[in-house]
Amino acid sequence: MVSKRTQELLQTDAEKVVHGMYVVGRNMGIVMEKAHGIYLVDTEGKEYIDLSSQLICVNLGHRRKEITDAITKALNEIDFVTTFFGITNPYIIEVSEKLARLTPGDLNHFHFTSGGGEAVDSAVKMARFYWSRKGLAGKYKIISLYASYHGSAGISTNVTGLGRGANQNPFGPVSPGFVHVAPPYSYRCMFGDVPDCGQASVNYLEAVIQAEGPESIAAFIAEPIMGAAGMIEFPPNWWPQVAELCRKYDILLIVDEVMSGFARTGKMFACEHWGVKGDMMTMAKGIVNSALPFAAVALNDKVYDVLKDNMLSHGFTYSGHPVAAAASSAALDIYVRDNVAANAAKVGQHIKQRLEAEFVPLPCVGYADGRGVFQALELVKDKKTKEPIDQQMKEKFWQDLFAAGIFTRVIGWLGNRMFICPPCTITIEEADRALDIIKPLVAGLQPK
Ligand code: PLP
Repeated sequence: MVSKRTQELLQTDAEKVVHGMYVVGRNMGIVMEKAHGIYLVDTEGKEYIDLSSQLICVNLGHRRKEITDAITKALNEIDFVTTFFGITNPYIIEVSEKLARLTPGDLNHFHFTSGGGEAVDSAVKMARFYWSRKGLAGKYKIISLYASYHGSAGISTNVTGLGRGANQNPFGPVSPGFVHVAPPYSYRCMFGDVPDCGQASVNYLEAVIQAEGPESIAAFIAEPIMGAAGMIEFPPNWWPQVAELCRKYDILLIVDEVMSGFARTGKMFACEHWGVKGDMMTMAKGIVNSALPFAAVALNDKVYDVLKDNMLSHGFTYSGHPVAAAASSAALDIYVRDNVAANAAKVGQHIKQRLEAEFVPLPCVGYADGRGVFQALELVKDKKTKEPIDQQMKEKFWQDLFAAGIFTRVIGWLGNRMFICPPCTITIEEADRALDIIKPLVAGLQPK
């Protein structure tokens, strides 16, 4: 039985707060009011290990003092100034310099937004702007992957490939100019029983490029490892070949590192695992450890040089917010100072070993995917048929996880991937504590 205060808060929430990605008029029955390190604390004083870093966005753990101090300091100097009309501030300049040092290749120029979806919208508009400045306005189509997630904003909703079915997508049809192709999800390959799902996906992408006409395609965009779909990692031959196709057909490559960036996968950016350098990169979440809304799209020299000296009629009121930039700058210092990516790689390796040895043999675990602290378990009713666990099993499992003090999600493309994505700063001991708690719960899932 929860306290009167919690009951009243939940009642008011149900009446007044319309939650995103949830049933309207409902809530999960938990009110979170504090956080520290890898933990969240609810209004009953119960602690939860944040095994999904919230929306895989609190990469450095909760309530980092350096970030709080940077926010306070900036706020005591300036609350807000626009970056429109060529006006600038020291915080956004500093963060741009730091990002240029951290990002791969020659991604040296940054346009700022409040969130990842806005960054994706900006990237698509800039890709089209790039081609129109080159006298090729007919290159406007954007190719992305089914099952991808790129945001809920205007353009990013169209780019997103997850939930395209009528039951999942009540917001109307995809706008013209957006094309989706099959990702190489080898466990459930969309090309059927082929020897190499990665190669089949590459071949199909090339066929689509030719059919649509490369002269009509502005950009290809993808997440290095699909995040919202459930940490779906592609076969090793996929990314290098896709980058090569973009070069061959003169298509801009946009790498969406909103979720996979900032140490998550054991490198600063996930695309570095395959040596891929995008023409643009979108980033959010870990960029500011989610202490404030802040995100960016990076442009490489090639794109920047074409856009240079042209009027950019695009932007958001909070683009380049000085206080959020100060927070981001402090976060970026922590990634470098503490070599957070190396910790994510080390602990991730340990988690992977335990998942493979102790969890994959369990009756309802299909396989383990992902790397670093960007991993997931595919939960199935039957290992042979690969039928996903059903809604009833999932609801019960989720409740059991919360009751055991674990905050994570079982969602993804088919709604059956359990996220194991704690803050990148987690220790091996803390990871073991979390795995020890979830193991009997996963073992308790029984085939039906
Ligand atoms: N791109 C990717 C890869 C994401 O995972 C997300 C969010 O999860 C977005 C874009 C959208 O970011 P935001 O929710 O900040 O708009």
